[in-house]
Amino acid sequence: MMIYLDNAATTKVCDEAKAAVMEGLEAFGNPSSLHHLGVVSEEILNNARKTLAGSLGVKDKEIFFTSCATESSNTVIFGAAKACGKRRKKIITTTIEHPSVAAPINELEEQGFEVVRVSPDENGRITPESIISLVDKNTLLVSVMYVNNETGYILPVKEIFKGVKRANPDTVCHCDCVQSFMKLPFKAKDIGADCISLSGHKLHAPKGVGALYVKSGVRILPLMLGGGQESGFRSGTENVALINSFAAAVKKLEPTVMQRYETVLSLKKRLIAALSGKEGIAVNSGDDCSPYVISVSVERIKSETMLHFLESRDIYVSSGSACSKGKKSSVLKELKIPEKYLDSTIRVSLCAENTEGDIDAFVSALLEGQASLAKIR
Ligand code: PLP
Repeated sequence: MMIYLDNAATTKVCDEAKAAVMEGLEAFGNPSSLHHLGVVSEEILNNARKTLAGSLGVKDKEIFFTSCATESSNTVIFGAAKACGKRRKKIITTTIEHPSVAAPINELEEQGFEVVRVSPDENGRITPESIISLVDKNTLLVSVMYVNNETGYILPVKEIFKGVKRANPDTVCHCDCVQSFMKLPFKAKDIGADCISLSGHKLHAPKGVGALYVKSGVRILPLMLGGGQESGFRSGTENVALINSFAAAVKKLEPTVMQRYETVLSLKKRLIAALSGKEGIAVNSGDDCSPYVISVSVERIKSETMLHFLESRDIYVSSGSACSKGKKSSVLKELKIPEKYLDSTIRVSLCAENTEGDIDAFVSALLEGQASLAKIR
């Protein structure tokens, strides 16, 4: 039986989300149409917006639907630069962001913005002070992720954004919450970010839908211009079916965030206990990491080789992260994972549907792989 342990890459679409896609497809009217068919579609959008807003504890009008978290983050980064980039030129971020944040910031740097990228300290941790101390009157944007997608490391975003706002209240605080939303219990005000990027397919909704929270009063100019949908912030006819599906998944998951957290944490503990003391194996995700993402290194065995060995046993994991496509991860290096492991790290990422049996099967396949692949080398 297939064992899927790659939930940080994407998740299996749940039945509720599938049904909601169908419901959204049946309501085929254009939500901008004035007639009754349009009103039905608009109603679906309004309800979905309410669900997302409720889950973050924000106003409905502060939620904008997008095609993915990559679009959400690009919108904030380029949109903030467009709105205020003439007066303020400094952007602060970390060296462990997802490419959907790192790449648009690189682009702005090429356009002349000053970019400061903060590295984790010698323990692989970002201290709030290392970011806050850089904020000045010229600071336009601070973008820091909540949970790192390669190791599950939970960044101290609450302390960071609080300090940033104290140093310069005009600085836009953006948080990529893709790996924390519906996994850790939080509301927008808990982390104090002005803008939050979310993705549907990481939480059992389909690929191709995301959302962006923008706090009222924060100036972000739109990237997509056209028919004025999403209150003029993101033109283009809304993807009613996928938005409905995203909301259905959130509705399903929201009441069980803590319960699922506990389930996944006990699976992580089981995995760590089974691998502890095994020679040549290290678990890189400690107690300050989200239990949903576990980074495991097997000395001298290349990530991709182990990934395919596990695949031959019908067990699916990632090498580092899905986005790094087998490349040596600079993020793992930044997180101070020892050099000898950088090429030999796999990512196990869980959901609450995983079982103890999945963990046991993974551990025995990993050990089998370690023994047999070491012989081939
Ligand atoms: N941010 C993080 C932390 C991620 O893990 C991912 C996906 O891997 C993304 C952003 C991009 O999300 P999307 O696929 O919705 O663009």
